[in-house]
Amino acid sequence: MSRSAHPAGPRHADVLTEGHYSAPAADLNVLDEKVWARTVTRDADGALTVGGIAVARLAEEFGTPAYFLDESDFRARCRAWAEAFGPDADVFYAGKAFLSRAVVRWLKEEGLNLDVCSGGELTTALDAGMPAERIAFHGNNKTVAEIERAVEAGVGRIVLDSFQEIVRVAHIAQRHGVRQRVQIRVTVGVEAHTHEFIATAHEDQKFGIALADGQAAEAVRRALSLDGLDLVGIHSHIGSQIFDMAGFEVSARRVVQLLTEVRDEHGIELPEIDLGGGLGIAYTSEDDPREPHEIAKALSDIVTRECEAAKLRTPRISVEPGRAIVGPTAFTLYEVGTIKPLEGLRTYVSVDGGMSDNIRTALYDAEYSVALVSRTSDAEPMLVRVVGKHCESGDIVVKDAFLPADLAPGDLIAVPATGAYCRSMASNYNHALRPPVVAVRDGEARVIVRRETEEDLLRLDVG
Ligand SMILES: *Cc1c(COP(=O)(O)O)cnc(C)c1O
Repeated sequence: MSRSAHPAGPRHADVLTEGHYSAPAADLNVLDEKVWARTVTRDADGALTVGGIAVARLAEEFGTPAYFLDESDFRARCRAWAEAFGPDADVFYAGKAFLSRAVVRWLKEEGLNLDVCSGGELTTALDAGMPAERIAFHGNNKTVAEIERAVEAGVGRIVLDSFQEIVRVAHIAQRHGVRQRVQIRVTVGVEAHTHEFIATAHEDQKFGIALADGQAAEAVRRALSLDGLDLVGIHSHIGSQIFDMAGFEVSARRVVQLLTEVRDEHGIELPEIDLGGGLGIAYTSEDDPREPHEIAKALSDIVTRECEAAKLRTPRISVEPGRAIVGPTAFTLYEVGTIKPLEGLRTYVSVDGGMSDNIRTALYDAEYSVALVSRTSDAEPMLVRVVGKHCESGDIVVKDAFLPADLAPGDLIAVPATGAYCRSMASNYNHALRPPVVAVRDGEARVIVRRETEEDLLRLDVG
């Protein structure tokens, strides 16, 4: 299971065994606060409300499918991470989880930094006024044009991912007459995923430079020799949807070992260590994520202990949560279209979206919850599979879940914890129109990313 986990972020999964599903909750009307955004509750009529607004009103005003994002929850999570790590560490929100100009402004106001990994994400960040020095630029194959824009903008750091890129960034920085602050991304030989990790010498994946065989030490040597680069630290990112801190322990130990070698060889103590993102969230009631303050304490204890043992000054720690900030803050609202009971198997519930607005189930076998939200029901639980409207039998949104047996076309159902890697990975498959993201706060709802239109589709298709 964890062998197929990808340490680089792309495998945003929790993998299920075939046919796995838990028993139905005692009361399907109860909204488990672990998986729903903080202001979500049911009103006196039994309808779900978020930020004080009932879903029927949201559906009427904004249509379905749509993502509804609880802005005060998002901001509270940013503050919790910033406070947990304190002034001597840095929190970078991983923009690939979900990025828009409104999100950039919230991050800026709440004191977070931002990771980007493409020219498009960089443009969005700069356009919304994120100071360049608070932006880190990632990626295993940044183009020359992207690097030039990042250097010109003055991004706070570029995370170097290959030997070619060390030279490429150095040349571009020199041409612009600057010394670019950089970190080197290393692969530490740890694949962490959910409750397991495996430690190996080599990692079979595309990101970073291996610690093994002195590769990373050689990368440090080259970076230190180039005038255009100001090497400030080492970066490591070990996986996604991680609940167990043991993988970080091995990773931190191996990175500190490299810092020690760098000190011994060059007489330099690199001032920063970035431990990446990948912290897990609750997609179902069975997941038990850790709070930011627990994570901060665990990571800081590990790094401090390892540095004391190596007689190194403790470097400044940074982390890069994406999913853990935005994931729980949004849900996707769908309208039920058709209901097909398959005798002895399950009931297929088709909604007006699908794999175009949530690819994670098809791509990673990810697990989600679902609830009837336009009303409550006392009907018996029925085993359902929530599927989309695409021409593809793998078009599954929620593989196994329970909904009330009196579910009917026209009911609204919602899938929680869709804030991360849903809109950002959304596609136009079957010429679907990508749904809007609506921010809800204190009784007000406003579109922050509008719904795509058929005119948008035709505008790209130049005939
Ligand atoms: C994807 C990624 C993250 C964020 O991962 P989450 O699982 O969303 O926390 C952080 N850092 C890097 C380098 C990544 O690739």
